[in-house]
Amino acid sequence: MIVRKSAAEIDGMARAGALVAETISLVGEHIRAGITTAELDKIAEEYVTARGGVPTSKGYRGFPATLCTSPNAMVVHGIPGSYVVEEGDLLSIDLGVTLDGLVADSCVTFGVGSIDPDSQRLLDVCRVALDAGIEQALAGNHVGDISHAVQQVVEGAGFSVVRSLVGHGVGRSYHEEPQIPNFGEPGRGRPLHEGMTIAIEPMITAGSPDVYLHDDGWSISTEDGSMAAHFEHTVAVTADGPRILTLPRVAAAAA
Ligand code: MG
Repeated sequence: MIVRKSAAEIDGMARAGALVAETISLVGEHIRAGITTAELDKIAEEYVTARGGVPTSKGYRGFPATLCTSPNAMVVHGIPGSYVVEEGDLLSIDLGVTLDGLVADSCVTFGVGSIDPDSQRLLDVCRVALDAGIEQALAGNHVGDISHAVQQVVEGAGFSVVRSLVGHGVGRSYHEEPQIPNFGEPGRGRPLHEGMTIAIEPMITAGSPDVYLHDDGWSISTEDGSMAAHFEHTVAVTADGPRILTLPRVAAAAA
């Protein structure tokens, strides 16, 4: 079942989303060589809870932290801990926040200090792929239009889409229907309707699309050790087109 949201719920999700965006931005300001992912997680948890938010991932199916912190070849779901951030790393910061009962979800992959040109291109392509997917989040389109747009950008640049990880509906809970794959055919899949709220999240690699699950039961990395990138926004399908709900308050007011 797909849960469509009222205008008031979408506004509430945008408030949750602003807190997500501001927290990720704050964490980004603290990312530097020498800091641990546990320290970044603490910064995020304090910021979110001080503003009345609840870190959605903490306790979700037993996940122990506020952030997912995934460096380099790790694609998603890294558990914050003793990992020491290094110059040249790519570090994905993924965060869900529940505010007044509504959830928003976003991810940014940061480059630490100066990163190599191939890593920079991976980040740039992932961002462009996310934007291309968001542009297709229109009433009357289908999930496959989003999926195809993402896939075209990523594979057109010579990178790979991870097939076993997908975006998702979000809002009243963290993971709702429908799934939003990052590959597919235009015009196929579930139809998009006004009021649907979805997390669009290309998870891409510089090498093969194959991934494996670590012994911790959460972290997922590329099989071949190639670098990964992940950008995500929560988006509402509205009468006025796609509305990104995970923007800082200032940007959201200007949009
Ligand atoms: Mg997500």
